[in-house]
Amino acid sequence: MSNTNGILYIVATPIGNLSDISLRGLEVLGSVSLIAAEDTRNSKVLLNHHSIQTPMTAYHEHNEDRKTAFLLDKLTAGESIALISDAGTPLINDPGYSLVEKATQAGIQVMPIPGACAIIAALSASGIATDRFSFEGFLPRTSGARQTVFEDYQKRQGTLIFYESSHRIAKCMDDVLAVYQPTHRMSIARELTKTYETIVTGTVEAVHTLVMSDSNMQRGEFVVLIEGFDKKQHKDDGLSTEDLEVLKTLMGECSVKTAVKLAVQLTGQSKKLLYTTALALNNAD
Ligand code: SAM
Repeated sequence: MSNTNGILYIVATPIGNLSDISLRGLEVLGSVSLIAAEDTRNSKVLLNHHSIQTPMTAYHEHNEDRKTAFLLDKLTAGESIALISDAGTPLINDPGYSLVEKATQAGIQVMPIPGACAIIAALSASGIATDRFSFEGFLPRTSGARQTVFEDYQKRQGTLIFYESSHRIAKCMDDVLAVYQPTHRMSIARELTKTYETIVTGTVEAVHTLVMSDSNMQRGEFVVLIEGFDKKQHKDDGLSTEDLEVLKTLMGECSVKTAVKLAVQLTGQSKKLLYTTALALNNAD
């Protein structure tokens, strides 16, 4: 790595409360020669609030290619640059991937300055399982496509997290209710770190009712979290259609013992449940 290159800093900025930026983030923003910002007018508010006078240049999805080349030239000439987005962590559903990809390819040091990120803030306070999760960004715009995503995740372990906009949150909640059991747990985190911050966690039915009955619950910015499939909770419920198909297919090819052994590996279901189901299938034949 050439030490004549500058450093590209990826600086997380607040998602609402202007104090939610690290001391190191402020130091970096004050010391680099240029800040590449998604929207310079928006970021001006943050910089003014913290009395930072570093020049800014716009870097957004419409000028990404051209600006990436411009910023790389500066970095290789030895200037250090900070990349920021309108809110939270750059590149997380925000511009910057092209710049970071090319900077790493060019041997330029890329340094993260961590901080706010709406999904992590929401997850940490939701009361929904945090040990395993998947982030889907924004879901598709049509109801059918959203329901397909939910149908897929309904069978997966781990919390599903996604961003949602105010004009789609009600329709999205209808889709959640159409696919998940009404008693399934979920959470909505709205306007995090802002005046009207609201985090509601409960059953799909209860959260749906709340969103539909209170128009304030359809305003602002949202992170939605849906609990994943819990194998322990469902261990006595019998096999899902997919797991049953796996078992049946294996039983058509090998002995019950081998089929059960392989099915345990493929489905993650308990050996006992698979074995009793296999015996029941054999007896039914
Ligand atoms: N890079 C950002 C981050 O680190 O969270 C996300 C950018 S993405 C374009 C913007 C979306 O993030 C919003 O539409 C909303 O779904 C979510 N979001 C951002 N700020 C939020 C907040 N304060 N409360 C809830 N959701 C927020």
